[in-house]
Amino acid sequence: MSFANVLLVDDEKSFLEIMEKRLGTRDLEVTTAESGAGALDELGRNNEIDVVILDVKMPGMDGLETLKAIRSDFPLVEVIMLTGHGTIETAIEGMKKGAFDYLLKPCDIEQLVGLVRKAKDKKSAHEEKIMQAHMKEITGRMI
Ligand SMILES: [Mg+2]
Repeated sequence: MSFANVLLVDDEKSFLEIMEKRLGTRDLEVTTAESGAGALDELGRNNEIDVVILDVKMPGMDGLETLKAIRSDFPLVEVIMLTGHGTIETAIEGMKKGAFDYLLKPCDIEQLVGLVRKAKDKKSAHEEKIMQAHMKEITGRMI
C-alpha cells in the first residue's frame, strides 16, 4: 500500500519518466503533469493527491505561479519545490509563499522520499485538526 499520493510536475518528459519509476518503487502513488496548468487540472479531478513535487523552471506558468494557485485553490495539499542552481531565489520565495520545502536538482531520491513523508504527515495532522473542529461543532450543537 502506498503511504502518499504524489503529483510530479516538470516540463522535462524524460525527468518525469525516470522519477515516476523511481518514486513508484518506494510505496508512492505517482501521477505526473508536464505544466503548471496541467497540474491544476489534475488536482481538480483527483482529490487523493497529498503532495505536489513542483519544478520551478517551466515555460508558461512557472513553479512560483503554480505554487500560488495550489495554495489558494487546494490549501491542504503540500508542495515541495525542485530547483536548479540558477533559480534558488525562486525556491526561497516559494518557501515564503507556503511551500513545504525545496530540493536542489539533481535531487537525492531518499531525501525526496523523506520530505514527501514529512509533508504527508503535516497534511494528515492538519486534516485531523479540521475533523476534530467539526466534531466539536457537532457535539456543541447537541448539548
Ligand atoms: Mg524545468
